[in-house]
Amino acid sequence: MKTLVTGGAGFIGSHLCEFLIGQGHEVTVLDDLSTGSAANIAGLVEAGAVRLVQGSILDPAVVGECVRGKDAVFHLAAAVGVQTIIDSPLHSLRVNLHGTENVVEAAVAHGVPFSVASTSEVYGKNDADGLTEDSDRILGSPLLSRWSYAAAKGLDELVAHTRAAETGTPCVTYRLFNVVGPRQTGRYGMVLPRFVAQALADEPITVYGDGTQRRCFGAVQDVVPAMVKLLHTPAAYGRAVNLGGRQEITISGLAELVKELTGSTSEISLVPYDLAYGAGFEDMRRRMPDLSLARELIGYTPRYDLTDIVRSITDDIAQRQRVRQPV
Ligand code: UDP
Repeated sequence: MKTLVTGGAGFIGSHLCEFLIGQGHEVTVLDDLSTGSAANIAGLVEAGAVRLVQGSILDPAVVGECVRGKDAVFHLAAAVGVQTIIDSPLHSLRVNLHGTENVVEAAVAHGVPFSVASTSEVYGKNDADGLTEDSDRILGSPLLSRWSYAAAKGLDELVAHTRAAETGTPCVTYRLFNVVGPRQTGRYGMVLPRFVAQALADEPITVYGDGTQRRCFGAVQDVVPAMVKLLHTPAAYGRAVNLGGRQEITISGLAELVKELTGSTSEISLVPYDLAYGAGFEDMRRRMPDLSLARELIGYTPRYDLTDIVRSITDDIAQRQRVRQPV
């Protein structure tokens, strides 16, 4: 297959590129290198396995050019990370709304099967014991920029599925639950690379809020093959599918685990949300996926547990620090 990965220089995108190449596919990456990094796919580009187009999904001409002649599109490009969304809410909205619309329009215009990466954020404050794909969304005020990501991604799903249905183009969207792994950066807010970098430097591990909020972390090595399988599965077309891990942990528990596995002497310090993200920030207390649909559709079973994940991230960050790459 000839494939396009938008956001292919990002954390998840770069793992997807490696996986697709391993399966013998041709890969073009469209990335503006904003939160992604050319270093993530430098080896693949140098080896001639990936063609990197540096450009924005906000440019319909570039998007159309990249989509034309492809057999599959994986749309991952987005403004991501709680910190990014809070720092530049308007630009993030534009990228996540108009950028996705450009990709969807190009895919349906050229009749190319496509998938769109959505997010568990769409469930908002629904803290049910296992969120299923038809669970209700509970979002805070639209005036709080935190919710703009969830709002945009929810609309992305609608645009994708509506246009796909109108045109008969195969489409699947997936809702990613706190996907983590090597090459993720903590610069845009993501908790696990931040904790590991802090632990390795023996600096305080910064737990926001009271640390009792809970998350289920999913390994990128589990999620990426599932993304590809879903686009090959007609029963998945027209569906939004949860992808992530099964093991729930509090953020304080995560800090303890990171400290233990890295052998760090860091103290664990509680930081009020106001200090971390400014006044009026709302966090999700709990976010746990029900993964039954992914299991039914493609036999999805996460294989990596949190200890494996923390170890692989620790090795990656230690290596990046050795060669003085940003973490
Ligand atoms: N968090 C934290 N310390 C940090 C960064 C994040 O305690 O340095 C918390 C954050 O408030 C949230 C959880 O870790 O409760 C997961 O944050 P992340 O931004 O990785 O993902 P989210 O689930 O919020 O999208």
